[in-house]
Amino acid sequence: LSTDTDVVKREAESMSRKSFRSNAEKFEFQAEVSRLMDIIINSLYSSKDIFLRELISNASDALDKIRFLSLTDKEVLGDGDNTKLEIQIKLDKEKKILSIRDRGVGMTKEDLIKNLGTIAKSGTSAFVDKMQTGGDLNLIGQFGVGFYSVYLVSDYVEVISKHNDDKQYVWESNADGAYAISEDTYNEPLGRGTEIRLHLKDEASEYLEESKLKELVKKYSEFINFPIYIWASKE
Ligand code: ADP
Ligand code: MG
Repeated sequence: LSTDTDVVKREAESMSRKSFRSNAEKFEFQAEVSRLMDIIINSLYSSKDIFLRELISNASDALDKIRFLSLTDKEVLGDGDNTKLEIQIKLDKEKKILSIRDRGVGMTKEDLIKNLGTIAKSGTSAFVDKMQTGGDLNLIGQFGVGFYSVYLVSDYVEVISKHNDDKQYVWESNADGAYAISEDTYNEPLGRGTEIRLHLKDEASEYLEESKLKELVKKYSEFINFPIYIWASKE
């Protein structure tokens, strides 16, 4: 039996953690993905803003997928908040966490393993090669590896996801060659969709400024067909 305070304590612990949950199953990134992440996390590239474009684009893709599925099967949308096809961005200045959440299709445990680390896409090596010969990091999305741009601004990332066909899982990684997946018993149930929680590097604290986020969302939402909301915690 867990009391409310236990839940609050566990939640607080999970929000500020930067090391794998003890019950997590550990995986190694495919070698090429590991190299890519190394390049990104050590990059001196100055236009780090692009990570937000990649996350908004992924959220939008996931929302498109669930909307498409709902055309032939209304049930997939569920009810209540699950029917709201939107993107939410939250700033937690105290914990230095920027999170972006969608009510899209979500990922099963298998999807998390397949999409975020284990199966190398054809673009991975091509992008690594490009970067080693002075290529432009801005093109990352075109190589199908845009997600990893989160490591331009974060040193630890959690991906919490709930797909209709599976339980809620957390993927977590410090970009040091390994990632971990565990059933999510800490966070509030998402209902459906994905929340990406970026634990920002010290030098990326500008992304906790509401005005900065608003400016970026305005810039990157031009071709996005879903509403985007920004929530900031009080200082
Ligand atoms: P791309 O978007 O070009 O496929 P990414 O590196 O941006 O490449 O994302 C990799 C994959 O991870 C996506 O194809 C998708 O399957 C999965 N993914 C990433 N973000 C989300 C999300 N918010 N919801 C569901 N799936 C996602
Ligand atoms: Mg993408």
